[in-house]
This record gives sequence, structure tokens and C-alpha cells, in this order.
Amino acid sequence: MKIAVAKGDGIGPEIMSAVLKIFDANKVPLEYEMVDMGKWVFDKGFSNGMTPEAQQTIERLGVLFKGPMETPKGKGVKSVNVTARKTWNTYANKRVFQTLHGVDTVFSKAGIPIDITVVRENIEDTYGGIEHMLTHDVALSRRFITRPGSLQVIRYAFEMARQKNARRITCSHKANIMKITDGLFLDCFYEVAKEYPELKADDVIVDDLCMKLVTRPDTFDVVVLTNLQGDIVSDLCAGLVGGLGFAPSANIGDHICIFEAVHGTAPDIAGKNIANPTALLLSGFAMLRHLGLTENAAIIENALLYTLEQGVHTGDFGDKSKASLNTTQFADAIIANFGKTPQLNAKELIPNKPGTPTPLKLERNTMLESKEIENEKIIGVDMFIESNEQPDIIAKKCQRHGGVKFNLINISNRGTQVWPTGSVYTNLVNQYNVRFESIDNYPLNQQDVIGLYVSLSGDFKIASLELLNMWGDKKSYSSAAGQ
Ligand code: NAD
Repeated sequence: MKIAVAKGDGIGPEIMSAVLKIFDANKVPLEYEMVDMGKWVFDKGFSNGMTPEAQQTIERLGVLFKGPMETPKGKGVKSVNVTARKTWNTYANKRVFQTLHGVDTVFSKAGIPIDITVVRENIEDTYGGIEHMLTHDVALSRRFITRPGSLQVIRYAFEMARQKNARRITCSHKANIMKITDGLFLDCFYEVAKEYPELKADDVIVDDLCMKLVTRPDTFDVVVLTNLQGDIVSDLCAGLVGGLGFAPSANIGDHICIFEAVHGTAPDIAGKNIANPTALLLSGFAMLRHLGLTENAAIIENALLYTLEQGVHTGDFGDKSKASLNTTQFADAIIANFGKTPQLNAKELIPNKPGTPTPLKLERNTMLESKEIENEKIIGVDMFIESNEQPDIIAKKCQRHGGVKFNLINISNRGTQVWPTGSVYTNLVNQYNVRFESIDNYPLNQQDVIGLYVSLSGDFKIASLELLNMWGDKKSYSSAAGQ
């Protein structure tokens, strides 16, 4: 069985060599095709940080095991890590955080065991990077949460929770504030939950989750979140079990999967052979299990856990009164412990059932197929205008442009209504959202909206607009605070 391997930048080559040495010593039945990705590939002029040959190899083999990679600063290039995840639609980021005996934390000292799997949506949300300056003072980021994208990651989380007999699966969100975007994610969660009646499914608001994770982390099992919230919460969870040096990551897609450590290239210690390879090794276990190499994964993981239990450590953790090992010595210590069983969390030896995942080409984009509601109608428009005038002056001007089809409904500034009612204590910036709706629910078309745009543009610069749709009797848009 072949996989693609990219050693990465900084400490990447050192920790990758250590991990592959451990795999080889355990006779892991894998062959490696090295691919060129990372900083030096950017420097050679490949703007996505990988050579076309690397891309072809990864697409042919379907599995990439990668070290951390540096994104050159200030060259207008996007992170190769993010590009890889998005290009190959690795829609679920799975991170397992477990108490490691020998890695002291406040929780391990208090005897509170942690075993949390965070599943983070990996493509959407603010990571689309669709951002604009609407005025010189006002920046806007578009946050896409889609129904098919949410269903895909949530279904993966439930399937994984079922396989691991999870005690609980929790959706974390901010649907109390972002009622439409996070509301959609939460609706998808409970829709999928119906297919898994044996699992205890519940939800928690993300700020409450953070508080509960640091007070009672042992009450959580599988947690599924949108991209940005998942990013933050998964680093919080890494902190609970000892830091990024112990945080593995699997980026799961239907066709290609990427396994990597969460930490970066650690330029401060690169080339010194002192980096901790544990996070990459833990990511390697997820990869071996994904490939059906369950026995190899269990033997090596038991050896790692045993090694940690003995107090063996690299310089970044552990009992400082005991001398630390360098990267190579740490790998050798793990190899020397093959066949040993740790006291805590010993893994069961399940015989290998190797299966090469076949990378399929997407012939048809099934996510394009939507259950669109037929009785959709446009009943208005939000115009995002630039102005440094007061709301009542803007309202007077806008009312002139409504004509026979539009009523000016309200004006808001930073999401807070400032006309027809508002507070003198609301601070204003030079960008307003002016909401028009059709008179007497008159059905509008896009030409009507463009007519209004043209008329309004006589008085204001309009940075963007959003249609106000009704689906049956359901509004597809939010109200301003105070409306
Ligand atoms: P970092 O994770 O590289 O380093 C933060 C600190 O943790 C440093 O003190 C470092 O020495 C230490 N550290 C990290 N990994 C370690 C290990 N395995 N063993 C011992 N100590 C370790 O974060 P950073 O400094 O913010 O980022 C450096 C570079 O890494 C940047 O170019 C960034 O873009 C890149 N990065 C890449 C990835 C990835 O490839 N997935 C992730 C994060 C950052």
C-alpha cells in the first residue's frame, strides 16, 4: 500500500523521519512516495505551495501524511495547509484529545480523565476568506454555512460516534446570535441525529462549552462544530491534555484524507533534533487505522503510552528533573518498547485488515442538488450604503427612491436599528444597511431591485446588496437588533 508523504518545513523533516523510522521498525506495510510541498515550493514560484506532480501523486494515492509547513508572510499567498484541505474537500477535521499517562496536566493530577473527539467543519465559514472593505472604515467578511456542507460533516461525526460507541455527541454553536447560519448547522445536526437514535445527542452554546470544558472536560465525548469555533475549541482541548505537542489531526474527505500534527514548523528549534514527534505519531495512528492497519497502530501506540508512563520525554514536556531525550533518542525509546503494555488506556490488538481507499474523481457534484422551495418570492432588498450623515437625513433621501414598489422599512448601523426608532447612545460608522420591502407584499423581481439600485445610486455609493426572500411564510433573512 502506498501513501504520499510531505516532510514539511522547519522541524517537519526531523519529526517525520522519527515517525517513519518507528513505522519501519514495526514493519508497517506501507510504501512512501515523497511529494514536494511547502515553503521552498512557494519560493520556486508555485503559488499554491505544491508542485503539479505532488498534486497528481496525492490525488492518485488518496492519502497524504504531512509535516508542518510554513506559509511565506506578506506575499499574498494562501496557506498550503488550508489550500490542500479545501482543494480536496477534506470536509471533516477530526482531533482526538486523550489524557496521556506521563504528561502532567491539572486534570491528570486531579484524576479527571479526558477523552474528547472534536470534529470541526473544515471548508466553510469565514475560512472562505471572502472579505471586502465596504468603506475605508468598514470591513465585511462573508460567512458561508451551507446545508450540504453541514450535513456532510455532521453525518461523519455521527458515524464516527457510532463506531466508537460514544457516550454523547454534542453540537456546539452560537445559534442564539447567528440564528440563520448557526441555526442551519444546528437544524442539520438534529436532522441527522434522528438516524442515530442510540446516541445521546445534545447541543451547547460555544461559550458555555468553553467554560464546561475547563471545569468538567470528562462530561464530553464527541463535539461537532463549525470551522472557526471548532478551530478555537480544538486548541483549547489541546491545552487540556498537555498542549499542541500532543494534538493529532485528521482531515477527512470522501476521496482524499490528510493526516498531520496541529502544531507548526517551530522555527525556533528547527534543525536541532530536539522537537517532540508525538503529535505527528498520534496523527500517524489515525492514518494507520484509516488504512486498516489496526494492529500496527495498537502496538506502536501501546509502546508510546508505555514510554510516556516511564517518564521518558523530550525537552518540551515532562519531569524537568529527568534528562530529556532528543527526537531520535525518543523514537528509539518507543521502538525499544514495542510489545509492552501501558497501565492506562492500553489499546486492543485488532488484526490488520488493509484496504486501500480508492480515490474517486468527482464526476457529479451531488452537493449542487438542493431541495429548493418552490414558492420563493423576493419581497425586498437590503442596500449597504456608504454615508456619514445622520439616519433621519438618510431616511428622507431613501424614501424619495422607493417609488411605487418599495417602502423604506428601517435603517441599521452595525446591525442595530437606528431608524425609524433608535437610541441617541448608538455609535454610528459610515456604513448603513437600508432595508426596503415591497408595498402590499407586491412580488418583486430582480429588475425592480436593479431599478431601485440605479435610483439610490444617485444619492449614495452602494457597496453591496442582499435580496430579502420569503420561502412560503418563512423569512430567509435576519432582523436588525431593535427592529
Ligand atoms: P508553532 O506551533 O510552530 O510553534 C509554537 C511554539 O511551540 C514554539 O515555541 C515551538 O518551538 C513549539 N513547538 C511546536 N511544535 C513543537 C514540537 N513538535 N516539539 C517541541 N516544541 C514544539 O507555531 P508558530 O510559531 O505560530 O508557527 C510557525 C510556522 O508554522 C508558521 O509559518 C505557521 O504558518 C506554520 N504553521 C503550520 C501549520 C501546519 O502546517 N499545519 C500549523 C500551524 C502553523
